[in-house]
Amino acid sequence: MSIVLRKVNHFYGEQQALKDVSIEVSDNQIVALLGPSGCGKTTLLRLIAGLERLQSGELYLQDSLVAAPQQAIHLAPEQRAIGMMFQDYALFPHMSVRKNIEYGLRKQQDLATRRGWIEESLDNMGMQGLLERFPHTLSGGQQQRVALLRALAPEPSTLLLDEPFSALDEHLRQQVREETLDVLKKTNTPAVMVTHDPLEAMFIADKIVVMEKGGIVQNASPQEIYNNPKNAFVAALFGPSNRFEADVEDNKVHTPLGHFPANGVDNQQRAEIIVRAKDIVVHQLENSDQIEATVISVHAMGNETHFRLQLSNMPERVIHARMRDHWQASTGTKVWLSVNGDAAFVFPKASL
Ligand code: ATP
Repeated sequence: MSIVLRKVNHFYGEQQALKDVSIEVSDNQIVALLGPSGCGKTTLLRLIAGLERLQSGELYLQDSLVAAPQQAIHLAPEQRAIGMMFQDYALFPHMSVRKNIEYGLRKQQDLATRRGWIEESLDNMGMQGLLERFPHTLSGGQQQRVALLRALAPEPSTLLLDEPFSALDEHLRQQVREETLDVLKKTNTPAVMVTHDPLEAMFIADKIVVMEKGGIVQNASPQEIYNNPKNAFVAALFGPSNRFEADVEDNKVHTPLGHFPANGVDNQQRAEIIVRAKDIVVHQLENSDQIEATVISVHAMGNETHFRLQLSNMPERVIHARMRDHWQASTGTKVWLSVNGDAAFVFPKASL
């Protein structure tokens, strides 16, 4: 195992930032920590790096115990063989690209081999000939790539990345994300990446750890998280969705979008229902089995059409729908809605 973190609680004064958190990262695995601002992602990363002291629990890196407050063990960050790349990747401004990347090389590393790797990696990223340039002469994306290679040059046993692409624009972010994934896989470097972007987590990670309010909500493969979300919060992470609450009656929940199986939630209990926008089908022809609505707005987005709709049976409620087809419709048009197969996620209403 590359990382094993067991039963970690963490407080800043009175405030609890992490609640009974345990995670495992196996060799070569890329794990994304996904969750809203303030849920404890950065704290978790800093604990692994040793920048924050563990207050309880245990941390193993490469199967060695490196932090355990009860046994008074706390290995310093520089003794943990961990690479780090943060949002503000802060290259040394007075050093060339070469000097920046070579900065962290360890004495026992073979300089010629590492230089070969650095040059090859720069080539693969389309950055041939930039070795003697200074950071201020590089674009943001180029600086990001240099920061990545600087973090990987010492051959860390694990790489920690904290929102590494958030300063880049969308197009560049996608490209640098792909390159980062390529380098991590090529070098067999396990990694933990913090992100609040569910699609980014899906793209890069073998396993996603979803966090909320300091705790882990779900820890599973991207497909599992997408197809079998543990609760309404996870179900609603991936793109726009519609959320309802209803009491369960006769093993069904009754929502303005239709009646769905209660999915194990007991009768008389309150349920939360999530229907993703992509699972709502908008029909132009009237059908008495379907739900009548009026188009509030419609946006053609290339291969998708995005709708906001007002339900006739609940006019105060705005529904979001996304259709794969290209659709011509104008504001005020009457349409009819149905929900794809068993696409409604039903959960017991979370108690506060
Ligand atoms: P973001 O996505 O905004 O970076 P995060 O999920 O990384 O958020 P953390 O930075 O780990 O969250 O913070 C978790 C909680 O702990 C937050 O409520 C934050 O305000 C608090 N916190 C973090 N660092 C400190 C600190 N040094 N002192 C006091 N409270 C802190």
